[in-house]
This record gives sequence, C-alpha cells and structure tokens, in this order.
Amino acid sequence: MDSLNPMVAPHEAHEANGAISASGLSAERQPIDHERIKRAVQEIILAIGEDPTRQGLLDTPRRVADMYAEVFAGLRQDAAEVLQVGFDEGYQELVLVKDIPFYSMCEHHFLPFHGVAHIGYIPNGRVVGLSKLARALETLARRPQLQERLTGQLADTIMRTLEPQGVAVVVRADHLCLSMRGVRKPGSLTVTSAMRGVFQRNAATRAEFLSLLDE
Ligand code: ZN
Repeated sequence: MDSLNPMVAPHEAHEANGAISASGLSAERQPIDHERIKRAVQEIILAIGEDPTRQGLLDTPRRVADMYAEVFAGLRQDAAEVLQVGFDEGYQELVLVKDIPFYSMCEHHFLPFHGVAHIGYIPNGRVVGLSKLARALETLARRPQLQERLTGQLADTIMRTLEPQGVAVVVRADHLCLSMRGVRKPGSLTVTSAMRGVFQRNAATRAEFLSLLDE
C-alpha cells in the first residue's frame, strides 16, 4: 500500500531542530492522523491472519484510532501550563498527595501500564491545587511513555513551575507487557522515584516523605 509509505515519524523532524521541550511537548506537532491509524490497524488485522470484514472487527480500526487520539492526547498538552495557576500561601511545610491514579502506555509495547503516583513537595510559599497535580500527571501519562521518564518529568515539571524547595515523586505501576506476556509476572509492581532539591540533598527530609507513604 503506497499510502502507508514512507513511514515517517513526525517527531523525528522536530527532534532534529530541537523543537521538543524538556517536558516532551512539541508545539508544532501535527494533529493525530486518524485515517493513518485506521489503515495501519487494518494492516495489523490482516497480518495476524484475521478478517477485517468480520462483523466484530469491522469498526475496530476506527475504535483504535479514537482510542489512540484519547490516550495520546498528552502529546499536544503542556504539563507545565497546568501548574502555572499556583498561588502564594506562604506555606513552607511538606505537602503530600498520595495514591493519584494514572494510566499510561508503555512505549516499547504499546500496552498500558497503570498505578498510582505519590507526590510530595516543600513549597517556597507557592502551592497549587491538588487536582492540578493530578492533571499534570495525566498530561505526562497520555503519551508513549516509560515509567522512569514519567516519574522524572513529573518531578522536573513541578520544580520548574512551582519552584519549591524540593519535590519527591514515587510511582508504583503494573505493566501489562510484564503481566500478560513475556515473563508473565502478574501482580508484580514496578516502583520508581525521583527526588529533587531538598529531598535529594537531605536524607532526613527524604526519610520523612518515605515514612509517610507507608501510613
Ligand atoms: Zn512494555
């Protein structure tokens, strides 16, 4: 099928001219190409030896295209923008938000990984609504992702926007690429953490945050 070739990844050109920001966002990124996803999914259905005209599969390419547009919507959103709305409270003690649920897509297998994030930060006065932290996480999660990168990007975005004394992020997630295929380890959790600022420098501050996670 000529229309499928060449399979040019739109982001490659952007990477070349450095248009992708630290949070992985490209302002110039093209809109999701639904028709191209539909053609590709049709090809996959044929390639696995299934019949794309079978009743149950007839509408699958469109459903997958719509789903990808939704689960990859974060490619066109800026997590930093979500956190710009912080307000000054003069508060300088630890703020901890536990068990924020998220869903993301492993970029190696295009299978979901999902779990919870715990976010702690010590403001320099400037704080942000708790729902905004959840929105920032969702924006970063709705991209082809790695758990390690998601964790680091979330911590860095909070550091950049709220300019707190420090940020600690811990993410626990179940990867479907581990639990339903390959080594098949259902129920195993992958834990990642990112410590910035005072959490990185000060072992006691870090220990306080980690002990609160167990409560
Ligand atoms: Zn994977």
